Amino acid sequence: MSAPRLVLATRNEHKVTELVRLLRPAVPDLGDEDVVAASHLAGRGLPDPGEVAETGVTFTENALLKARAVAGATGLPAVADDSGLCVAVLGGAPGVFSARWAGRHGDDEANLQLLLAQLADVAAPHRAAWFECAAAFVDPRPGVPDAEREVVTVGRLTGTLTTEPRGRNGFGYDPVLVPDGGTRTSAELSPAEKDAISHRGQAMRALRPRLVAALAR
Ligand code: IMP
Repeated sequence: MSAPRLVLATRNEHKVTELVRLLRPAVPDLGDEDVVAASHLAGRGLPDPGEVAETGVTFTENALLKARAVAGATGLPAVADDSGLCVAVLGGAPGVFSARWAGRHGDDEANLQLLLAQLADVAAPHRAAWFECAAAFVDPRPGVPDAEREVVTVGRLTGTLTTEPRGRNGFGYDPVLVPDGGTRTSAELSPAEKDAISHRGQAMRALRPRLVAALAR
């Protein structure tokens, strides 16, 4: 098995699926073995920096923290994203705390139920919210010019929150956000429909030229 060309600095399997789906059209010659998720580094004989503490207070800071940690440990180019749901009436919360809103990191169901309970008395016109994503690419390889070593792009998907979860696709808060201009929740969209408008899709598409250039090195 050849060495990977790119590490995805995430242990969230849902995100791995979405990120690979979004990368493929950008880098058509990217084979299955060329990409490795942080959770599978050890299996490919590469150093694993372990869970990276998300100590940043912005999506950009946390995405860079994750990409730098993985790139630093492996010596390979790394992509990380940090994302979350921001609710207008909550002043942008849960934001960077989206994955741990109910206390336990990654408990999607508890996070979603807590959010719905907090907003139970908030009427439809005041239920505006958006998904936000910062995607970071860090290339630690020798010879890469300093100006090309790190890049961050962002994307945003605006919408309205429902009062009940709907739909079985996606993950996290997808069942409660109805993107603007539609009637279905993000979890009622097909993967292709979500990718076309999502915060992660936008951020990854903006990253594409830099990835293509770096992977051609
Ligand atoms: P991260 O892994 O720190 O970026 O946490 C992201 C969290 O934000 C996830 O656990 C979800 O709760 C939420 N989130 C981010 N992107 C999405 C999405 O595309 N759909 C639904 N929830 C999302």
